Amino acid sequence: MNFRIENPIFKEIILADSNMHDHKISTNFTVYESSDELSVVEKEMLKRAIEVRDTAYARYSGFKVGASVLMQNNDIIVGNNQENAAYPSGMCAERVAIWSAMSAFPEGRIKKIFISARSEKTSVDRPVAPCGACRQAIAEYEVKQERDIEIFFTGEVGKIVKAYSIKDLLPWMFDNSMLS
Ligand SMILES: [Zn+2]
Repeated sequence: MNFRIENPIFKEIILADSNMHDHKISTNFTVYESSDELSVVEKEMLKRAIEVRDTAYARYSGFKVGASVLMQNNDIIVGNNQENAAYPSGMCAERVAIWSAMSAFPEGRIKKIFISARSEKTSVDRPVAPCGACRQAIAEYEVKQERDIEIFFTGEVGKIVKAYSIKDLLPWMFDNSMLS
């Protein structure tokens, strides 16, 4: 399986039949009105993400994020954001969860990631997507495992968005194929 060619943007460029033309990128996502529409395992992932979100170490921003990662063996690994007085030394919930999961299961496969965010300053009533650096980290493991990772994200209340792959959030992504 050539995962790179599956990436729509690369496919479009590679297959382009002239030197110059305009392109559009479209991505796929589903919006859930509430958690009632989630599957049983997704509801459990949301519950675990909320639990860990609320114990995030976010003393500087007050913006707490929790992430849960579902592995192919159905284990759920969680992580939350960890801030630092030296700001760049902190880390996002998504990468804490993903790296923890991949440390525990080096050959494991990630099926889904669920992210929930809450602020101590305001009501977070819209879905909070992962930051660019976390998207890049998710991309690394999606390429490694050659299987898409579903990414769910939400705020404290309101709708939930599901992206079907990191390619939906980071369509022109840098991956290891660039290095060869
Ligand atoms: Zn991040």
